[in-house]
Amino acid sequence: MTVAAKRIYLSSPHMGQYEQQFIAEAFTTNWIAPLGPHVDAFEKEISEYVGIGGAAALSSGTAAIHLALRLLGIGSGDIVFCSTLTFVASANPILYQGATPVFIDSEPETWNMSPAALERAFKACEQSGKLPKAVIIVNLYGQSSDMEPLLDLCSKYEVPVVEDAAESLGATYKGKKSGTFGKYGIYSFNGNKIITTSGGGMLVSDDLQALEKARFWATQARDPAKYYQHSELGHNYRLSNVLAAIGRGQLRVLDQRVQAKRAVFERYRAAFCEVDGIEFMPEARYGQSTRWLTALTVDQDRCGVSVNDIIDCLAEENIEARPVWKPLHLQPLFHQYEYYPHYLDQSVSDRLFETGLCLPSGSNMTEDEQFRVIEIIRRCTGK
Ligand SMILES: *Cc1c(COP(=O)(O)O)cnc(C)c1O
Repeated sequence: MTVAAKRIYLSSPHMGQYEQQFIAEAFTTNWIAPLGPHVDAFEKEISEYVGIGGAAALSSGTAAIHLALRLLGIGSGDIVFCSTLTFVASANPILYQGATPVFIDSEPETWNMSPAALERAFKACEQSGKLPKAVIIVNLYGQSSDMEPLLDLCSKYEVPVVEDAAESLGATYKGKKSGTFGKYGIYSFNGNKIITTSGGGMLVSDDLQALEKARFWATQARDPAKYYQHSELGHNYRLSNVLAAIGRGQLRVLDQRVQAKRAVFERYRAAFCEVDGIEFMPEARYGQSTRWLTALTVDQDRCGVSVNDIIDCLAEENIEARPVWKPLHLQPLFHQYEYYPHYLDQSVSDRLFETGLCLPSGSNMTEDEQFRVIEIIRRCTGK
């Protein structure tokens, strides 16, 4: 082990040349108090970048999902469908609202929500006489879901969609930016995302009135009065002016980050595309993925090593790699909820979890660092 080797992360913050300028502006105007001009400008710039009516800057992507569900009137006893192959934050807000999640499998072509499984879930709900009140569609590892068949089903049953685009800011689907397809879309600016404000999120929609309501709830639901008066339950969910300043700088380099992430992916693909038993997460023809994380599957029988072996080899060299998300229907937290697999007798996400691996994909990883990662994997697999 090279003790001195610098740690290589899965995806670490990568600042550009504009962030400090914007922060300095916040300091010189003493606009450190939560709200301020950078928040308004960041909202405007994000909505222009993705091409949607408006945006509300929030303290996290999780907060954005939570407020989207509140705006849709999700409450106790309601059913909400959600992709199973995702981070827990996609579904936690369903429980915050006292509603019941039902999990939907991935399809093998995109690793995202399976229209076949979604259709079966809708039919089952229809038969039991209770349709879901919302569907949360998650875009995994920088790739949009196949929105058309999913949206067709949702509009057939007249159920609104929340698009969790926390991992897919900058990606496209049929020429349109990911995150703009549902009634509400959400982005995350957590430290590991493609751009970051250290922590933050955004709720986007064409419904400007709804966004105004979200801002109201996000600032403790203060009634318009001189004293503190509250008629509704609020949250402390707004993004601060200083963090919005970072976000404005980051947004200016987003397209560069997408290119860098895709270049990282291409180098991995060039290195391993010939290896029997390694297959990369497919990129669907309908759009461009950001390749936020390079994800692949490892067939242990053909490769001779398992995902865990590779993770251990990399960890010994101070390099971070991880399995793909553990599906939510397998999480102890959600064990009692229903799940609809892609095939009647087979779950795609279970298989992806068993064989899936995410490699270090930082847009700030140097080519030398990446070649180090590649060499270690070569040694580990003996290929
Ligand atoms: C990161 C992430 C979130 C949560 O975003 P935070 O800003 O960390 O709250 C939600 N969904 C997915 C798919 C994510 O990857």
